[in-house]
Amino acid sequence: MLSSFKEFRGNPEMLARLLRAVRRESILPAFILAGPEGVGKKLLALLAAQVLNCEKPEPDGACGQCAPCRKIARGIHPDVHVIVPEGSEIKIKQTRELSADLQYRPFEGKRKVYILDPAERLNEAATNSILKTLEECPAYAWIVLVTAHPNALLPTIRSRCPVYRLAPIPAADIESFLVQGGRDPQQARVLSKACGGSIGRAISQDWSQLQMHRSRAVSLLQRLAPGGFYQVRNFWSKLSTEERTRLTLEDLFQTLLVLLRDLLMLKENRRPEVTHDDIAPQLASLASAYSFERICELEAQLRNALRELQRNVNAQVLVESLYFEQQ
Ligand SMILES: [Zn+2]
Repeated sequence: MLSSFKEFRGNPEMLARLLRAVRRESILPAFILAGPEGVGKKLLALLAAQVLNCEKPEPDGACGQCAPCRKIARGIHPDVHVIVPEGSEIKIKQTRELSADLQYRPFEGKRKVYILDPAERLNEAATNSILKTLEECPAYAWIVLVTAHPNALLPTIRSRCPVYRLAPIPAADIESFLVQGGRDPQQARVLSKACGGSIGRAISQDWSQLQMHRSRAVSLLQRLAPGGFYQVRNFWSKLSTEERTRLTLEDLFQTLLVLLRDLLMLKENRRPEVTHDDIAPQLASLASAYSFERICELEAQLRNALRELQRNVNAQVLVESLYFEQQ
């Protein structure tokens, strides 16, 4: 875990505002920390918990070295709790435990911290119970509701808590973070652009898997170049059963969309904006086989197919419908 706010990537203004509030201890007892998946919401809540409990806080965050800081980083501080779903939901048993624990002052730290992650998984009974807790939260405690979907929280919860929002992280910030962490610079460039502003996704992405997905998508584009989506059927017949799942198809379509965008960038001589920069020469020859119109047409078909997939249309049926559309 990072030890200081200054190592955190992205969202500098929000970070400064949060740091000021935690350093002055003027932070409200409960708030919502919102933002897309993988931008560091939980990490930021933990960094703030360190500042609140640090023995030797520094101007830009906690010291990262004292016993409370180290315990929080290791997830063993008795006053800092991360509450995650049991199964698919955060249940009333868990929120009742939180509320019972809240009655006691901090055991060894200065401030008790409860991080609910992700808060939209609170089930109905747990939501009702946490509402009461939020209203009665004592000054020695801090409750953070972490969520990528703040609108999925009940209006009664949102009206009680200010919302701090994290934006997606710029690709350049993610790239430098990955390089500092020892990633190959060329891989870092591709990953930082392909992760949609999610540093978490960029870190966890398996490079060989990305290459495998990408080479499948590139070979499909090579076969599609002459026209028609009918080649998808041949492609489909070569996949193994486990590859024919909805998620795999969704991954494939997302990869294809990024590659099509790369082809457009190359046709417009905008190489610095190409995501899959490491295979740019291969993509450039592919780009010459495609017209602008063809790229846009394919892109529209893929977006449509993705919408259908997200509506849970059976993957096999979907591929066949793409096939027949072109006849
Ligand atoms: Zn410390």
